[in-house]
Amino acid sequence: MHCVVGLCWSVWGSGVVLAQSGSIGLVGATLVDVEKGELVRADLWIRDGKIAAIGEHPPDFEGSTLDVSGRWIVPGLRDMHVHAVMNQAFGAQEMLGPGKIAKRSLFAGVVGVLDLLNTENFIFGFRNRQRENPLTSPGAEIFAAGAVIAAPGGHGTEYPAPAREVSRAKDARRQVRDLAEKRPDVVKIIHDRLTPEQQAATFRPPRPSIDEATFAAAVKAASEAGLPSVVHVRTWENVRDAARAGATAVTHLPSTPVPPEIVDLLATTGTVVIPTLAVADPSLVTRPELLESSLMVRLTSPAIRESYRNFEIDGSRMVDGLERAMKNRFETMRKLSRAGVPLVAGTDAGNVLTVHGYSLHRELTLMVEAGLSPWQALASATVNAGELLGRGWGLESGDEGSVLVLGASPIEDIGNTETIEVVIQRGIVVDRDRLLDS
Ligand SMILES: [Zn+2]
Repeated sequence: MHCVVGLCWSVWGSGVVLAQSGSIGLVGATLVDVEKGELVRADLWIRDGKIAAIGEHPPDFEGSTLDVSGRWIVPGLRDMHVHAVMNQAFGAQEMLGPGKIAKRSLFAGVVGVLDLLNTENFIFGFRNRQRENPLTSPGAEIFAAGAVIAAPGGHGTEYPAPAREVSRAKDARRQVRDLAEKRPDVVKIIHDRLTPEQQAATFRPPRPSIDEATFAAAVKAASEAGLPSVVHVRTWENVRDAARAGATAVTHLPSTPVPPEIVDLLATTGTVVIPTLAVADPSLVTRPELLESSLMVRLTSPAIRESYRNFEIDGSRMVDGLERAMKNRFETMRKLSRAGVPLVAGTDAGNVLTVHGYSLHRELTLMVEAGLSPWQALASATVNAGELLGRGWGLESGDEGSVLVLGASPIEDIGNTETIEVVIQRGIVVDRDRLLDS
């Protein structure tokens, strides 16, 4: 028997994740239906890892039931921009790799993550083993882009993980086709070209970047291979190029105010935006109380928290710059959401200012601080993320049976996504504490 805050159940065998899928009835909670934007008082029945019914006990249901009266149920959260390598802060880092990151993410209620740059064969090998048999790699489901498509010497080539470097349209087509053989979940393309005026205004000479024809060829090759493309952008001109080229998504929000014509363009093309507010948010250094939250303490080493505590804020150009840019980014978020541009949550975890698992909760809070509703924020980390990858990640019949039982309503306060009492992955109750044992 295993108990958390008065909820008890038998843990199947040795715990963590015992089978690929299970059946369980969750009785008495309020369902947070992010697709419809409704709170529904109904029981939820998961059979063989998928949501089978909402409401009445299905007559042929064979599975245990868990009384979760007075709680809230949300779909499991997903982080659609991570690098499953490490947690790093200022002068401190913790090498983790995809195995530990998958576990820590699941502990934090993040049941799926999309890795957008890693050592290609290594991350695909991990993903494939996990996909074939989740028992071998318990934790959040890993999705991966593999290597990024980038200009020789450009952004994306500075890491130990080799990029697929391209300088002509022909190379881009060849590289994307070759990558497609390994079935990446998305193709990640770096498109961060600056205009001559923007170049003149930067301190450092910019890295090389691919030209428009090469970029367009990469996007087209991804689409022809049936793969979504996710484009790393730096400026609004890059966003415009990506939308016009037919890219599925752009990631990062430029720090300058969004031009109205770009909002209209994105709304027309339906290009997904993965804003990664968390990685541009200095709160871990400006608000030390965040370092005391129970999720933070469970998910980070003392050295990581110490390095944030010791960061010298006074006179920090980085903090001032990020805070100023965040005002623009919040305004951009309001405009994009008002225009109906699809938003998908991603944190860029693996970089300084982020923590795997924890930062997704911050991302949702930042969206609400920007002016989005808690419903919009939750949709970005559930159903919208599912749409990007072709999965059903809501609370509808047939959707994946991975849900979180929360102790308080995330609609009343989005910060309540951190009040996780139970994580269910494909119908199996996850032994959260065991995930952090190793
Ligand atoms: Zn990234």
